[in-house]
Amino acid sequence: MTVRSIIKAAEWALAPETAEGAPAVPLYEAECTTCGDQSRVAEGDQLAPELWAMKHTGLNTTHRTYRAVITSFWRVSPAPGNPLHRGETGR
Ligand SMILES: [Zn+2]
Repeated sequence: MTVRSIIKAAEWALAPETAEGAPAVPLYEAECTTCGDQSRVAEGDQLAPELWAMKHTGLNTTHRTYRAVITSFWRVSPAPGNPLHRGETGR
């Protein structure tokens, strides 16, 4: 999905980052809000940090709240109609 917006009268488009090395899927992780312990970062796998949180509470029965962190990478590029669009796409 691409989200388009107008910024300072020039058209820009927001889309997922697709450059080489950028994760193609969101990164998921969890952090215990009691002790700060963190799960491993799971690429595209929400279940792994959820299971980590369940296990963490099982081992530390008073640690019951977590901060879920989901990271995605975006890129803003000139959209058609933006003078920079031609220079970057060659069209
Ligand atoms: Zn904890």
